[in-house]
Amino acid sequence: MSCLFCRIVAGEIPASKVYEDDRLVAFNDINPQAPMHVLVVPREHIDSVSALGPDDDDLVGAMVRRAAAIAAVRGFASGYRTVFNCGPGAGQTVFHLHLHVLGGRPLTWPPG
Ligand code: AMP
Ligand code: ZN
Repeated sequence: MSCLFCRIVAGEIPASKVYEDDRLVAFNDINPQAPMHVLVVPREHIDSVSALGPDDDDLVGAMVRRAAAIAAVRGFASGYRTVFNCGPGAGQTVFHLHLHVLGGRPLTWPPG
């Protein structure tokens, strides 16, 4: 298994996990860009947003709602950001679907 996030999901590579259930795992980003920087990933390997199919709608909904719950628990409900980097041109470096959840500092717009 060569996918980094599949290996984290499987427990083969350590990560600072903050949540897991039967479909999702969430862990702290190793190179945080904000005081809260969590990645929400599906256990199932999906390359990116572009590879999603209609059967994945529930899964993506669960990812987004989990991001909101994590932000709320940390006290950031009034200001946090969720990001899917989609493809190399947008900075995607790990090709296992993941939702960034950032908070705890001013988040300006537009992002870089
Ligand atoms: P992206 O650039 O959108 O593909 O995001 C990949 C993210 O994975 C980056 O923010 C990295 O810092 C993060 N990352 C890479 N390796 C690890 C790891 N072993 N544990 C946690 N986060 C990681
Ligand atoms: Zn994977």
